[in-house]
Amino acid sequence: MRLQGKVAIVTGAGSGIGRATARLFAAEGARVVAADVSDAVEETVAGLDRAIAVRMDAGSEADVERVVAMACDKFGGLDIFYANAGISGGGEGIFDSSVALWTEVLRVNLIGPALAIKHAAPRIVERGRGAILCTASVAGLRSGAGGPAYSASKAGVINLVQTAAQQLSTSGVRVNTICPGLIETGMTQRAFDYARDNGKQDKLGQLNPLRRAGRPEEIARVALFLASDEASYVNGQAWVVDGGLSSSHPVTRQLFGKTSF
Ligand code: NAD
Repeated sequence: MRLQGKVAIVTGAGSGIGRATARLFAAEGARVVAADVSDAVEETVAGLDRAIAVRMDAGSEADVERVVAMACDKFGGLDIFYANAGISGGGEGIFDSSVALWTEVLRVNLIGPALAIKHAAPRIVERGRGAILCTASVAGLRSGAGGPAYSASKAGVINLVQTAAQQLSTSGVRVNTICPGLIETGMTQRAFDYARDNGKQDKLGQLNPLRRAGRPEEIARVALFLASDEASYVNGQAWVVDGGLSSSHPVTRQLFGKTSF
């Protein structure tokens, strides 16, 4: 019960990382507002005692304000906001990416977390301490893990949490982001399905030294730590959870004299 008595909002809670995190937060004692643009968020809270589902657009200021107010009205305050909702924007390269695509990806993936900080922080301050989390990506660290708009949006999130942590100095609110590597979720399902259909499932996640893709629960457990008071001295950081993918330049792997384990 590491979040006993806490009130948490999780966006993008209708699928993948957000769903796993909303359920873990609830299992750890939090009262949870599971928020998503999709009706699937109802399924996330099915069977949970202390969780409610709400439909919202994480890139809409009115919706973010409404969800924060709802959490405070329903549960008496706010301790944690996990701004996790995101879209990939597809695989278009820089010459094929329209202004409309750039605008929508930045609206959801970058302006959404900025709005979460803007509207959640003043309410968390009232509690004396708390945490805001975002989901960036290894795509925000360097090129090669997403389209140009997606990658730039995630790089922006990493900088956003650094700036927000500074601006919330002495407030008691910590602001961090997680940078997942390849995780099997709704966002990546097509790639996983394609690989399985073509007998290539062993190829997925092979670039990291653990040689597998991650599961949403493996991100949720890091989110739990960062959201909890156990992470009381972690602030303004991008926590990479990628099986070691970003720990090396692209070189031929050395396996201590063996070709494989
Ligand atoms: P997912 O598609 O399974 O879940 C994303 C959820 O966000 C969906 O339920 C979707 O309906 C919701 N959503 C989309 N736009 C929204 C909006 N405007 N308002 C509210 N909800 C919205 O994918 P996921 O992998 O669980 O994605 C969660 C986060 O993790 C995203 O920010 C994504 O960019 C990030 N991420 C994912 C991976 C990966 O490999 N899956 C890697 C790095 C980062």
